[in-house]
Amino acid sequence: MNKYTKTLLQGGAHHIILKGMKYTDAHCHIFSAPADNVAAQVCNATTTADWQKLVQIADDRTRICIGIHPWYIDSAPPDWADCMREILLSNPQIMVGEIGIDKYHPDIDRQIEFFAQQIEIAIEMNRPAHIHCVGAWDKVLHILKDHHPHIPIIAHAFGGNTAIITALAEYNTYFSYGARGDHVADTAKIAPLDKILVESDSDAPSVQAEILATATHEIAKLRECDAHELNEQINKNFTGVINYAG
Ligand SMILES: [Zn+2]
Repeated sequence: MNKYTKTLLQGGAHHIILKGMKYTDAHCHIFSAPADNVAAQVCNATTTADWQKLVQIADDRTRICIGIHPWYIDSAPPDWADCMREILLSNPQIMVGEIGIDKYHPDIDRQIEFFAQQIEIAIEMNRPAHIHCVGAWDKVLHILKDHHPHIPIIAHAFGGNTAIITALAEYNTYFSYGARGDHVADTAKIAPLDKILVESDSDAPSVQAEILATATHEIAKLRECDAHELNEQINKNFTGVINYAG
């Protein structure tokens, strides 16, 4: 369970599972089938120890990413890059994630090195890359500028400002929003409609649909649009990402 799941449970779960709506979860850590109201999910690795486990559970409803999270770069074995290439080569549907840079975690220089290497692999293998970035968009953008990738870039739990949205719009970037309690980041109001995703970032299927429903509902309120239509558009965006990867 991560901190978002905890917040939601402690705050008393929200009940906005809109009738007839199926959600898609652009970023989670659920190592089992998604919840009933969830059409499909993207399950992200955090360490190399997750990779084979994820390969075992991958199917049409559970699409997977392999990568090394910036918090866990110390756990990476020396041959991680070769392993990553090998798994991606033999599995065209697997994406890269979660990778990134986090200002509040040590060893920024090494984080940058790991991120750059992994984004290069994603580009080389033509796979979407799922990014964790906290307080380091300048560094991520610098690396993206060097490579100018065409692959979908998924900005998970997007917390950047309007200027970052504009800078990222140069690339094929998707903005993925979760809900903390019943709050979603304000930029969900102005992010391009065909690039919005929702995510639970959860490892617990029991709360997955509620987080996605809350995020969708709150984004619809911010944008003053119909939640059903928004949900359909989000699902379409999600399909664009996963279909890019095979
Ligand atoms: Zn995550």
